[in-house]
Amino acid sequence: MCASKIRAQVLYGPKDLKLVVRDIDAPAKDEVQVAIKSTTLCGTDLHYFTHYANGDIRIMEPLTQGHEATGIVVEVGPDVSTLKVGDRVAIEAGVPCAACEHCLAGRYNVCPKIKFRSSAASIPHFQGTLQDRINHPAQWCHKLPENLSYDEGALLEPLSVAIHSVRKANIRPKSRCLITGAGAIGLLCSAVAKSYGCEQVVMTDIASNRLEFARNNGFAEEVHTIIPNRGADVQEDLSIAQDLAEDLLALGGEPVLSRGGFDAVFECTGAESCVRVGVYAARPSSSVLLVGMGTPIQTLPM
Ligand SMILES: [Zn+2]
Ligand SMILES: [Zn+2]
Repeated sequence: MCASKIRAQVLYGPKDLKLVVRDIDAPAKDEVQVAIKSTTLCGTDLHYFTHYANGDIRIMEPLTQGHEATGIVVEVGPDVSTLKVGDRVAIEAGVPCAACEHCLAGRYNVCPKIKFRSSAASIPHFQGTLQDRINHPAQWCHKLPENLSYDEGALLEPLSVAIHSVRKANIRPKSRCLITGAGAIGLLCSAVAKSYGCEQVVMTDIASNRLEFARNNGFAEEVHTIIPNRGADVQEDLSIAQDLAEDLLALGGEPVLSRGGFDAVFECTGAESCVRVGVYAARPSSSVLLVGMGTPIQTLPM
């Protein structure tokens, strides 16, 4: 097959979204062409849509969004032997260089040359998955088991974020965790922590309906709706965070109080105020995982 036409969602500025028709080439020798079946939208997509930026990363040219995706292989490059037409796959959105020290050590997630779909971090931007079809390296397409739907498969990318975070936190049976942020990442961190034996999750958010969902579906035992409250200066902000942390410790109950804090904190909002609460709420010798990306420069109680 040679070049053909596809439709793509393209963001041209804040809230300036268009559907355009563009060309797609045949896949390169190590690529497959995937017809996208499902793409979930995450906080990053929303930030780009609203601000044309995510934290301190600014969009420099028109960008197609979406990076959590599944699809079906419709064409394979001549050197591809691992996949065939008709295979259902999940897309791994980050394509690393495969040659640097980090890649060779297996830590390709920190490859400085990684290109990430729908991220403005690399230039030219690596276009996202909200397109009819994409060409993607076969190495970074993972075959879906039959019992997984396309929609479920699209959640593998955020799930992998949660698995990586929970492994770093070294969660043990009977541990109690605090999770700030009840979005998809917070919920998935909870699900994975529980699979490692975590017995209690206390979850916070500014949206009480999200917390209700979390509690009703077994992602959180205790929840606390945060009412945004800014102090007059940093000192006051820190004491607000400290007071909130004490309330959360009380929600954690006797085991958390006697250990001097939570066994791990998963900060899934990126908000400076939540990171501060997390530092205050973690017990000695535990972990505060900065899972969310947000405020680029923060003042924290160290
Ligand atoms: Zn995402
Ligand atoms: Zn690399």
